[in-house]
Amino acid sequence: MLERLRNIGIVAHIDAGKTTVSERILFYTGVERRMGEVHEGSTVMDWMEEERTRGITITAAATTVPWRAHTINLIDTPGHVDFTVEVERCMRVLDGAVLVVNGVAGVQAQSETVWRQMVRHHVRSIAFVNQLDRPGADFLQAVKSLRERLGIEALPIQFPLGSERGFRALVDLLANEAFEFPEATLGRDPRRIPVPDSVADEVGVLRSELLERLAEEDEECFQAFLDGREIPPDVLRRALRRAVGRGTLLPVLCGAALRNVGIQPVLDAVVDFLPSPLEAPPVDGFDPNTHAPFRRACDPEGPFSALAFKWAADPNEDLLYVRIYSGRVRPGDKLFNPRVKRMERVARVLRMHANTRNALTEAGPGEIVALTGCKFTTTGDTLCDHDAPIVLERLVFPDPVVSQVVEPRNSSDRDRLRSSLERLAFEDPSFHVREDEETGQWLVQGMGELHLEVKQHRLQREFGLEVQIGEPRVAYREAPIGEGRGMARVDRVLGGTKVFGAVEVEVRSAPEGPISEIRWREGCPIPPRFRPGVAEALSIEARVGPRFGFPLTSLEIEVVGGESHPDRDSEIGFAQAASAALRTAVSEAGVALLEPVMSFEIEAPAEFMSGIIGELNSKHADIQEVSADGALRRVSGTVPLFHMFGHATTLRSLSQGRASFSLSPAGFRRVTEGELESRGLVWS
Ligand code: GDP
Ligand code: MG
Repeated sequence: MLERLRNIGIVAHIDAGKTTVSERILFYTGVERRMGEVHEGSTVMDWMEEERTRGITITAAATTVPWRAHTINLIDTPGHVDFTVEVERCMRVLDGAVLVVNGVAGVQAQSETVWRQMVRHHVRSIAFVNQLDRPGADFLQAVKSLRERLGIEALPIQFPLGSERGFRALVDLLANEAFEFPEATLGRDPRRIPVPDSVADEVGVLRSELLERLAEEDEECFQAFLDGREIPPDVLRRALRRAVGRGTLLPVLCGAALRNVGIQPVLDAVVDFLPSPLEAPPVDGFDPNTHAPFRRACDPEGPFSALAFKWAADPNEDLLYVRIYSGRVRPGDKLFNPRVKRMERVARVLRMHANTRNALTEAGPGEIVALTGCKFTTTGDTLCDHDAPIVLERLVFPDPVVSQVVEPRNSSDRDRLRSSLERLAFEDPSFHVREDEETGQWLVQGMGELHLEVKQHRLQREFGLEVQIGEPRVAYREAPIGEGRGMARVDRVLGGTKVFGAVEVEVRSAPEGPISEIRWREGCPIPPRFRPGVAEALSIEARVGPRFGFPLTSLEIEVVGGESHPDRDSEIGFAQAASAALRTAVSEAGVALLEPVMSFEIEAPAEFMSGIIGELNSKHADIQEVSADGALRRVSGTVPLFHMFGHATTLRSLSQGRASFSLSPAGFRRVTEGELESRGLVWS
């Protein structure tokens, strides 16, 4: 059965039509009896209230659909850059993807980002050029932009017939047949029609290019091609499947999801060209005891392993979405979580359909299911067989870049705000929360203004909390410049009890990113039972940097020594000593302020470009590329996030609303001492 399974994402730039495509897929596969429309707020995949009102997809929903005796697990991923973490998580567990491209604009910035993620996670894909019913749509131009912007050999396997409202049919270049999607039946039962003479030349050229290319890839096609024989469509499809599996070709399909044109062939292409879990490479992991890396193949009889890629708070029962890599799971099974070193008991194994679910008696490798009953497992954790433990690569999440102050309107809501924020943070690793004990306010951090805004709306709608929020600000970080060492000793009597602890730590600057696991030097005398407490105290201390109070980052902490006196050793003693030792070590190392840098891409008609570039220069942007695409100009580069607040408004007025603009996190940079003052930040 595994060869008949596909784990697929639908990915694209925002507004390319992912949700519309997904809804059509539900309709044609018979899962939904009526067709949802984004503009009516009735879509099934965007089931969260927040998504319906905004008409964008925020949380990926997993859904299972049948097609041609195959099972397709479909993940509708968010396209907005603020939710890029959601996309990254999904990529990790997908084998294939349908890249939806806007037929008017071609490949847009977010698709490029997603493409890089797909390449990183070996996700194979097909492309669907959508919205070909719109004025100005151009299929071959979109194919060209796929080639140019993604650097992949994009190859049309279809050709659209007609344009604007007259676009209702397409040619299948592999079978050399044309199909019409009748308007009256909402595109059901596509009808075969003759290939019109008017496109015979174009179709002929595209088809021979396609055959030639497949002949280069495939021996069977090559022979037939040499002999001048007609190659059966099945042979061509097999050859294309192998090329897609190797990642050398990107087949491109066409259609207009809103007009119900071209969706069933996308499902056919998913089945025909995208890999099953059996064809995916074995998953990488390491042994939690020895740290030795090894790989695990997709074997239902092997020991169990699964990666949790999403945790979702749910009114009835919390859901843990997992991808199973080996072995089987049944309700009642006990699974081991190597990170927390605890067993989880699975209550139910569910197959998810947008917001309804079916309970399963068993699930095996390659499957994506939701588990209930798990208490300690979060996004990125592995669940495995206790006697054959494996840790699957942990997901890496970027540091948040925007922060905001939140407080309840009624102080009686304080506790509810705490538990609600903690819940939201547990669900989303790119959303951080921290309470300021002095002011009673909360500092929340996320990947963008929209990201934070959505959390605020969820606090209101789902948790019924009225909150007061501050202006969004740049989420600065503090990072050590050099190396430092600190030692602290606590030795006193507290309320009649002896309290002792002594800790010595070293810090040094590390590659950019959150603080990695704390290291322990061989022979360190701190007794093992106090080590978790020391590690916790160190990570709490690191939340507030010594210079401005921003969290520490890009920092490696090693506990190198200490003391132990079994008669007086105490948890509190070690925790206090650890915090003090870290403070000393960090101030010895010296601290710099880091600020988030964003890559930007702005697209606008040529006449507005000089104004836009002038504005970017005044914002200290580093402009890396200016390119032309017909009448459009595109400028890209990097710029400190600090300068980009309010930029959307400026850009709108500079371009009479005709520019499009995207930002994505591109790491952190050191703020110079000169800049500190101009931002109202002074030495403490
Ligand atoms: P997503 O952001 O990628 O999920 O895109 P949506 O599916 O939400 O679509 C964005 C907008 O484009 C919606 O208003 C859709 O109705 C519209 N849209 C989607 N597909 C098509 C299409 O094929 N033709 C036209 N004209 N509009 C479309
Ligand atoms: Mg959507």
